[in-house]
Amino acid sequence: MNSPVKIREIECKTLLNKSAIADYCVNPYVGCQHGCRYCYAAGITFRFRRRREEWGEFLDVKTNAINVLLREVENKRVGKVYLSSLTDPYQPVEKKYELTRRILEVLVEKGFPVIVQTKSNLVARDLDVLKRNRLNEVGVTVVTLNEEVRRVFEPASPSSEERLEAVRLAKDSGLRTYVFFGPILPFLSEADLEVSLTRFRKAGADYVYVDKLNLRPMVWSMVSKVVSKKYPELYDEWRRIFFSESSYYDEVKKKVFEASKKIGLELVFCY
Ligand code: SF4
Repeated sequence: MNSPVKIREIECKTLLNKSAIADYCVNPYVGCQHGCRYCYAAGITFRFRRRREEWGEFLDVKTNAINVLLREVENKRVGKVYLSSLTDPYQPVEKKYELTRRILEVLVEKGFPVIVQTKSNLVARDLDVLKRNRLNEVGVTVVTLNEEVRRVFEPASPSSEERLEAVRLAKDSGLRTYVFFGPILPFLSEADLEVSLTRFRKAGADYVYVDKLNLRPMVWSMVSKVVSKKYPELYDEWRRIFFSESSYYDEVKKKVFEASKKIGLELVFCY
């Protein structure tokens, strides 16, 4: 991923869509400038949209999103909304377009509770809107506190510490907060397990989701390139974990469980 991101303005037909995570999900953008190498959204996005660029190198901005949403909130029952399932609502372009901010204003005004999950501390900009409904939640994703590893897998997003600072600010605003610890990258994420969980707690996370790396479409092809180039000594181990019987993630689960018990941290395992 070396090319500049190609940004295009488009119009959408719907915005407030049904979701398996909450009642609805909202994706203000198509594609994601963060370009994480393990992204599950990549395979889904490429299935529906043909692009020549690589994941992280294109972004479509739904410029009519607010008008579409204003129409939809009048016709749909109130429910919980998750931002976002196939993009990051606070990627860099959000500074310019402020689509997420305006979407939140509409949803909060109409009484739709919101869960925002991001890899960016830009979410702190919108705490004034989010705190108008105490049912709103703010979560950040963290795969590791090791910045060298973080940069390899998440080349264009803010640091893990910047995200955790946003959690602190959200907590100070009276919002419920969480850290999504995942996907756990074998031998990389869990190297500093207890330190990470303690840091999440200190940041003010009310609870922590924990997830393994799932090999959704395109994930192995993207992630294996990174592992073979940057961590060749781990490549065979990764292959073994993902393509044969392996207890690796069960062992990680036990370790996370034990560490969190010591710290007094609430956990939700996604696997
Ligand atoms: S921030 Fe989320 S949506 Fe964006 S590339 Fe990373 S994993 Fe995918």
